[in-house]
Amino acid sequence: MLVEGYRQEFWLPPNPRAKHRRCYAHLDGDIAEVLPYLNTVLGGYQYYRNPPRLALKFQARLITLYPQMIAINMVDDEAEAEKILLWLKREINNTWKNRSAIKPSFEVSPKPRVLDILKLLPKDNCQECGLPTCLVFAVQVSEGARLYNDCPKLDPLSRSKLKECLNPCPPTA
Ligand code: SF4
Repeated sequence: MLVEGYRQEFWLPPNPRAKHRRCYAHLDGDIAEVLPYLNTVLGGYQYYRNPPRLALKFQARLITLYPQMIAINMVDDEAEAEKILLWLKREINNTWKNRSAIKPSFEVSPKPRVLDILKLLPKDNCQECGLPTCLVFAVQVSEGARLYNDCPKLDPLSRSKLKECLNPCPPTA
């Protein structure tokens, strides 16, 4: 088992409009060697060899795995962070255990296109999300800096389509 435990640390961005915290999990093991295998299993968003790190999208959040740390850019609370971390711990350890049957990947998945996201937004530019326009919101969602759910004006169909477009990882945390 590569990871048995971790220590969570939370950080609240200084922006007074920020609704989410960042979570850093300091790991008790080194996961550098499993990262290319995880890239195959989970479909990485960005992968770097040196220093090794893998970025993933999970329910539109950006999660970065470093050799001894996991950073989650947006969580509502400790319970949500714990749910995501337990899922990652399971994926890390299972992938390491089964690595002989997995072809490591050093490639990355394409980013969701800003225009594809924008098409599903109301395009009201109402600023209720705290951003000046829907386009800026779409750019930030594409980069993983905002959640699609942060737009309160999304209708259920667009919400569901956005979820599908932004969620290449299995939603099984
Ligand atoms: S809240 Fe939604 S509709 Fe309003 S500006 Fe933000 S993304 Fe656009």
